[in-house]
Amino acid sequence: MQTLRASKCGLSTSKLSPAILEIIDSLSKAGYDAYIVGGGVRDLMLGENPKDFDAVTNATPAQIKQVFGRRCRIIGRRFELAHVHSGRELIEVATFRAPPKKAVTSASGMILRDNNWGSIEQDFSRRDFSINAMYYQPRQGIVLDFCEAFQDIQQKKLRLLGDPKQRFEEDPVRMLRTLRFAAKLGFQIDQGILDIFTPECTQLLREVSPHRLYDESQKMFSMGKLTQLLPLLIQFHIWQQLLADLKPKITPLMQRAAENTDKRIAQGKSINSAFFYAVLLWQPYLERMEFYRSKGVIDAEARAQASIDVLKRQATRTIIPRFAETFIREVWEMQTRLIAPKAQHIMQLVNHARFRAGFDFLLLREQSGDAATQNMGAWWEQFQELNNDQKEKAIADYRRQQQRSRKKTTEQSAEPFVPLVLETEVNSRAARRAKQKALVKQQRAEIIDKVPVSMQQGQGISPDHPILKRRRVQRDLSHVVFGPTQ
Ligand code: ATP
Ligand code: MG
Repeated sequence: MQTLRASKCGLSTSKLSPAILEIIDSLSKAGYDAYIVGGGVRDLMLGENPKDFDAVTNATPAQIKQVFGRRCRIIGRRFELAHVHSGRELIEVATFRAPPKKAVTSASGMILRDNNWGSIEQDFSRRDFSINAMYYQPRQGIVLDFCEAFQDIQQKKLRLLGDPKQRFEEDPVRMLRTLRFAAKLGFQIDQGILDIFTPECTQLLREVSPHRLYDESQKMFSMGKLTQLLPLLIQFHIWQQLLADLKPKITPLMQRAAENTDKRIAQGKSINSAFFYAVLLWQPYLERMEFYRSKGVIDAEARAQASIDVLKRQATRTIIPRFAETFIREVWEMQTRLIAPKAQHIMQLVNHARFRAGFDFLLLREQSGDAATQNMGAWWEQFQELNNDQKEKAIADYRRQQQRSRKKTTEQSAEPFVPLVLETEVNSRAARRAKQKALVKQQRAEIIDKVPVSMQQGQGISPDHPILKRRRVQRDLSHVVFGPTQ
């Protein structure tokens, strides 16, 4: 073990947030050992701005709760830790951990429970990478380095502590973390990891809960290094584990969206964590929609059903929280509205809650060479720059143009405009559900109205065809392989 002077490693209390200092001080005052550990220490040493700070202590979660009272909440079952509020910040405070007991690992060696308290020496060897296992005591101005981590920082090396195979078996999520840190820090992955990082090894991820994989994927997609990350996901066969039904190929849309997301993060702009999922799953969504269309299902229902199928299938790998699911479906649905809007709905669309995301998505498609947008991305972009009079004129021009082209072709979509999200947020859950039900009912009625007479008379799909009546029931799609044969 080496004790480093914090100042020699580029660390100083002035670079810490008041919250982490307050928490370290409160624990120390109560007689416990307390350190800053993990990404905060690592990133400061690299001259980067840490995303957050994590604390570690010899106090148990119950003792941490005693120190902070109502400011503290104990969370997690597999990995119990304390969430402590300080000012507007939330700091994760973990307790030193000893190696897990045999009884709480799965057949393949995955740790199911990891709440065995221990000493700092035991704790360091439980951490994933050497560079994440440095303990910084800011008031003493020292860093405890048990594993020559500082050298790894200097040599830009990503090294797992212990036997890499065993560490991946204990927690397969460490594979994702390897790629995350390699992409984020630009570090070389140690040979010991490369030797065992095989397609067979990635199968271990099948044991990890879709919830955890979603959380981890969010961290990967929002760290501002998507362009570096995507090729790594393919190279290390993680792509197939994370994304159901998606060929391991970076499409021009994905590339463009990755560059755009990274740029936004670098500029300090916010990103919606579900947006990149909407990008990733766009192609499977289109294919699934084509499948329904080829069966004679009308467009609106084909789109609705395709999005349900694709998101459900994806949820067998990474759970998609309800808010993200709604967001993704709305962004996709917006595409149709934005490409062929009715003139009288243009202003409504601009003020729509999902307009911005839908428009960004459309523009990315257009910029990545998707001709199906019919240059409407550029149209909306210009439209937003206009003053009110100019907007009115632009709408009138658009209407005229639409009428002209309608004369030439009957191809135009004549779907009724149905708002995707109600502009005024409904707060109560029951009210939201009732509104949703009413909307579905209305949509269904409209769909049935629109069924061509030929179909109603028995050719193709009739109004009482199950697809038009069906309630969207929970279906296990994990064994279904989508493809042209279906
Ligand atoms: P970030 O900059 O993304 O926050 P981080 O290294 O701080 O990176 P966290 O997920 O915040 O990552 O975890 C904090 C610390 O907890 C890590 O630095 C590491 O020491 C430890 N840790 C987290 N996840 C694992 C894991 N799956 N296995 C072992 N140690 C882990
Ligand atoms: Mg962290």
